[in-house]
Amino acid sequence: MNKSPYRYPFLDLGRVNARYMADLKAAAARVIDSGRYVGGPEVKAFEDALAACTQVPYVVAVSNGLDALRLIFRAYIELGRLQPGDEVIVPANTYIASVLAVTDCGLKPVLVEPDPETLNLDTRLVEASISPRTKAILTVHLYGRVCYDQALKTAAERHKLLVIEDNAQAIGATSATPSPRGTYIAGSLGDAAAFSFYPTKNVGALGDAGAVATADAQLASTVRALANYGSDYRYHNIYQGVNCRMDPLQAAFLTLKLQDMDDEIQRRRDIAAIYSSAINNPKVITPRIDEPDRSVWHQYVVRTPYREFLRRHLEANGVETDIHYATPPHRQPCYPNFSRCNLPITEQLADEVLSLPISACTSATDAREIAAIINDFKL
Ligand SMILES: *Cc1c(COP(=O)(O)O)cnc(C)c1O
Repeated sequence: MNKSPYRYPFLDLGRVNARYMADLKAAAARVIDSGRYVGGPEVKAFEDALAACTQVPYVVAVSNGLDALRLIFRAYIELGRLQPGDEVIVPANTYIASVLAVTDCGLKPVLVEPDPETLNLDTRLVEASISPRTKAILTVHLYGRVCYDQALKTAAERHKLLVIEDNAQAIGATSATPSPRGTYIAGSLGDAAAFSFYPTKNVGALGDAGAVATADAQLASTVRALANYGSDYRYHNIYQGVNCRMDPLQAAFLTLKLQDMDDEIQRRRDIAAIYSSAINNPKVITPRIDEPDRSVWHQYVVRTPYREFLRRHLEANGVETDIHYATPPHRQPCYPNFSRCNLPITEQLADEVLSLPISACTSATDAREIAAIINDFKL
């Protein structure tokens, strides 16, 4: 196995998955022996397991998180709930995939600034961002913290907006505000949710994988058909669809990793709690921890105006860090029309955020030692 040159690697996926090695190999052998390599019982078992733990009636396993988002928007267009040119409210501080899904479907993203305390979409700004063409809110539960509250819910209800969750980073997280269905768990809050099981996510496949979750039977069957060449039954194509299915091999891996999700969340909460209580360098802002802690800490993101100096100090002390994300979507060359957007909070965050190691390979001792290294940081 590759050995990281860092004493505290940011994320060592080989080590993360080594803990499941015997079970992963048994699952792979089962799929190979089954002779069924697309669809079938492994995929169905995973969909049922995800539906149960997300408290939604319908789950469609798909190829990845971006496809999950695109299929949701496409399905709403096919069902006449959205039309090309409609506006979708999207957080400006997000991974680019959230925005790519909107523009790929011919919809118009309206980028809204984050709350500097949660780094998520500032829901107080949603109401003022709504125009007669606004038809949906894409809420992103960034870094594992749910972005859903009474302000968002009220704006959506008042203006009859669809609420779509980008739940790529927050599987298992909960909301303090219940959804209209009375649920609290991320992925059950809006009209539809997209999940990603990219290998670095909290529940990671050994390749690409994603899912769509919804309580809307019609939306689920439309997504399922679209992801399978637009076919509603065999050799009958109701839509000009795509091929975006999840492999049974990934489904088998994910079913077993899903069983460990609660332990994984607890490990991450423990690390976050250590960081937040032990880091006391006045140059470094640590993230807010709610009481009780509802985040699943996909990333533990600190802020500092001295980021490059802190990063080098950590590097020199064997701590590998990462930045999520250094360039916001509106500054990417693929979106020249957004380059004039006035989003100062988003841009400041892009300059200040730094992600510390937090994974099954980060021990409590590691977290205490990393915090001590940060406390030693001087200019
Ligand atoms: C990872 C991620 C996606 C995309 O998921 P993929 O499976 O990599 O396509 C979308 N949105 C967010 C917020 C993500 O973190």
